[in-house]
Amino acid sequence: MDVRIYPFNTGFIRLDKGAYITPGDGYGMEVEVPTWAFFVTDGKEKLLVDTGMSETKTADWHHKGSYQPEGFRIDEHLEKLGVTPADIDAVFFTHLHWDHCSNMKLFTNARFYVHARELAFARDPHLLYYKSYESKKLGAHPPFEDVPFRTVDGEFRYNDFITLFPTPGHCPGHQSVEVKTTQGTYVIAGDAVFADENLKPDTHRGLSFTPMGRYVNVFEMFDSMGKILARADHILTGHGMGVSFKQVYP
Ligand SMILES: [Zn+2]
Repeated sequence: MDVRIYPFNTGFIRLDKGAYITPGDGYGMEVEVPTWAFFVTDGKEKLLVDTGMSETKTADWHHKGSYQPEGFRIDEHLEKLGVTPADIDAVFFTHLHWDHCSNMKLFTNARFYVHARELAFARDPHLLYYKSYESKKLGAHPPFEDVPFRTVDGEFRYNDFITLFPTPGHCPGHQSVEVKTTQGTYVIAGDAVFADENLKPDTHRGLSFTPMGRYVNVFEMFDSMGKILARADHILTGHGMGVSFKQVYP
């Protein structure tokens, strides 16, 4: 079987367009964005990129008004494809913000891959990011608490169709996932490319893409977006509506 990528919308987050997506355009405009996780398979290996967001109560604590509709949890999506959590061989995390790694403990047989820098920061985040990582310092229990990871540091070729590569900036240890298919190279960008608007030219500054508003390091964020655009034939964003264009890629 050829390599296939199934996007799963794990719920909706409400956020300020100007603050998160297009700085300078849309401050004060509240928008609702999908939160993507992906199932990737060649018919033999069963793989996930991220495990998506939490149930509504926790989501609403993070961003007021955010919610996970019934049937949108990661394992409920898999069930529709006849896949159980125990079938998953590996999960590649783009990063460990709450909306990308909730429910990861369901995957009892999976190997978990994360960038070393991301794991270190997630376990001991800066005060400004306690909430994003559901830090124990807030009395919370992060989804990755007491979970064993395999850390990668730099580019990592997992098999002949999956390669992880670092795309820091949104957070310290962000990485993206390159998937080779019969229809070219897909890059599952995670939040290194936040939404569809970020793929459009920034006409004010004469750039071929629009840098997003949410980052820990603006220069790394900019370079990572450029790197993704250079290696991808197709880009699947972390929170863009465009991902819903097809139920399975390519
Ligand atoms: Zn996100």
